[in-house]
Amino acid sequence: MKKIIVLGGGASGVLASILLAKKHGGDNVLLIEGNDRILKKLALTGNGQCNLTNKNMTKDKFFGDKSFIESVLNRCDDRHTLELFSQLGISTVQKDNGKIFPRSYQASSVADILRLHLDILGVEVLTSEQITRINVDELDSNTNAPLKFEVVTAQNRYTCEKLVYALGGATYPKLLTCESNFVFLKNLGHSVKPLAPALVHLRAKNKSLHMLKGIKVDVSMSLISNGKILASDSGEVHFGDGVLSGPVSFQLSPFASNCLLNNVDVTASIDFFSEYTSGGLLEYFCDRAELLENFSLENFFSTLVHNQIGRAIIKEAGLNNAMSMKDVTDNDLINLMKVSKGFTSKIVDTNGYSFAQVSLGGIPTSEITENFQSKLIPNLYILGETLDVTGSCGGYNLQWAWSSAQLASLEI
Ligand SMILES: Cc1cc2nc3c(=O)[nH]c(=O)nc-3n(C[C@H](O)[C@H](O)[C@H](O)COP(=O)(O)OP(=O)(O)OC[C@H]3O[C@@H](n4cnc5c(N)ncnc54)[C@H](O)[C@@H]3O)c2cc1C
Repeated sequence: MKKIIVLGGGASGVLASILLAKKHGGDNVLLIEGNDRILKKLALTGNGQCNLTNKNMTKDKFFGDKSFIESVLNRCDDRHTLELFSQLGISTVQKDNGKIFPRSYQASSVADILRLHLDILGVEVLTSEQITRINVDELDSNTNAPLKFEVVTAQNRYTCEKLVYALGGATYPKLLTCESNFVFLKNLGHSVKPLAPALVHLRAKNKSLHMLKGIKVDVSMSLISNGKILASDSGEVHFGDGVLSGPVSFQLSPFASNCLLNNVDVTASIDFFSEYTSGGLLEYFCDRAELLENFSLENFFSTLVHNQIGRAIIKEAGLNNAMSMKDVTDNDLINLMKVSKGFTSKIVDTNGYSFAQVSLGGIPTSEITENFQSKLIPNLYILGETLDVTGSCGGYNLQWAWSSAQLASLEI
C-alpha cells in the first residue's frame, strides 16, 4: 500500500506530487495519469506560452465562494507561488497587464521542468491508466476515517492511506477532463454544483450579426440580464458565424454561461463608440450629418467604423443604406446613436466543453476544509478545477491549481 496516491497529472496533481515527495520521500508518492503523458494540458495553456499566474490576484477575479477564495489567496497567492517556482528553477517574467509567464514563453518548458523534478525525486508516475472507480475500503472504528482507499484503473488496482484527487474540471474531454469524472466524488457522497463551460466563445443571435462575420474590432461589451449590467469589459471582439469570440467576449463568458445554466436570458451589448458618451456621440452625429448632407447614410459611416459595421448599424436602426443624409431625421440620428453604442445580440449558447478552457461549478468549497481536505471523507484531498472555483482569463485558473496543491501539501 502506498502512503499517498495523487490522481491526475495536471497542474495541481503534479505540483502536489513534487511537494509531497519532498516532504515524505518520492517512494511514498504514486501519481496516476490517464493520458500517455502528464501535463499535456499545461503545455497548451496561454496559447502555448503558459500564463502561470497574475500579479493582480484578488478574490474578485474568481467565481465561487469569495470568502473561501480570499482565505486561500491570503495564505497562498501569486507571490508564494513565484517564490516556490524560483526554488524549482522556473524563471518567470511579468507583463505590463500583470500576467506572468515563464521567461521562455514556452508552456512545454514548464511541463518539462516539473516532469524532471518528479523524476529526480523518484515519484512513481503511471501514465495511460484511466481511473474508473475509487473505493473507500477500511474505516477507523473510532474516527470513521478511511484507513485505506482503493483506486481502480482500466488495468490495475492500487491502495493508499491518503488520496489526492486532481482530475480537473469538465472541459477539454479530448484530454480526459470531463463531466463523467465527477461521478467518482459523487459516489463518495460529495455534491456537485451544476457544471457549464466557461472561458469559451459565445453563440449569439441577432438578425444583422451575420453582416459582421470576419471582423475583429476594439469595443466595449456588456452582458445584460433582466435590465441589469452583469459585467462589462473592453477589448477586441471577433465576429464569427453567429459566434462572439476574442478576448472581450472570452472574459465575459463565465457570466453568460452562468445565466444559461440557470435559464436566465442574457444579452451582449456592444459599444462601437466607447470613447463617446451617448450625448457626445449624438452631438457628433448631428454635426457630421450636416457636414455630409450630400452623402448617403452608408457613406456617413465611412472611416468611422468598418463598412460592414456601418451597414449593420443602419439595418439595426431600421434605416436604408441608400438614404440621403438630407432625409435622415433627428429621431433617426438618435436611433443610430443608440445602436452604435448598444448593438445587442441574445446569447443563446456557448461553444461547449470541447472549446472551453475551464468549467463553472464542481465540488462546493463548503465540503472541504481550508486545506482542501474533504469534510466528508477524511484523508481525501480535492484540488484545482474540480472544485467550484473558476477564475477569469489571465493566469487565475492555474494559480488556483497551484494554491490548492501548496496548501493541501502543507497538511498531508
Ligand atoms: C487550451 C487551454 C488554455 C488554458 N490556458 C490557461 C492559461 O494560460 N492560464 C491559466 O491560468 N489557465 C489556463 N487554462 C486553464 C488551466 O489549464 C486549468 O484550469 C488547470 O490546468 C486546472 O488544473 P487541474 O490540476 O485542476 O486540472 P488539469 O490540469 O486539467 O489536470 C487534470 C489531469 O487529470 C487527468 N485525468 C482526468 N480524468 C482522468 C481519469 N479518469 N483517469 C486518469 N487521469 C485523468 C487529465 O489527463 C489531466 O492530466 C487553460 C485551459 C485550456 C484547456
